[in-house]
Amino acid sequence: MCTDLPPQNCSLVDGLTAFRRNISLALKDQEECAICYSIIAQDKTLPDKKCGTCNHFFHRVCLYKWFQNSGRNTCPLCRNAIDYLGSDTKRRRPEHE
Ligand SMILES: [Zn+2]
Ligand SMILES: [Zn+2]
Repeated sequence: MCTDLPPQNCSLVDGLTAFRRNISLALKDQEECAICYSIIAQDKTLPDKKCGTCNHFFHRVCLYKWFQNSGRNTCPLCRNAIDYLGSDTKRRRPEHE
């Protein structure tokens, strides 16, 4: 492929090619959000929230909307609780205390 180039340029080209390949591989391995079926959300984030039970990935914003709509912090797919907010969740008090 790069026989016409001096060795140092050749390795540079190879490096760039490998770099691009790694990026596309990384995106390929990135699972889409199971709520909106996109990899990149409107706020440019990747699905970084994972259900520990069914191992599906969700965008933070998508999960948040889901929790708001459903009124509970459960996975949209397997209905098991998701530790989404962490300490925030534990801090929240029941309204009828
Ligand atoms: Zn999403
Ligand atoms: Zn789940």
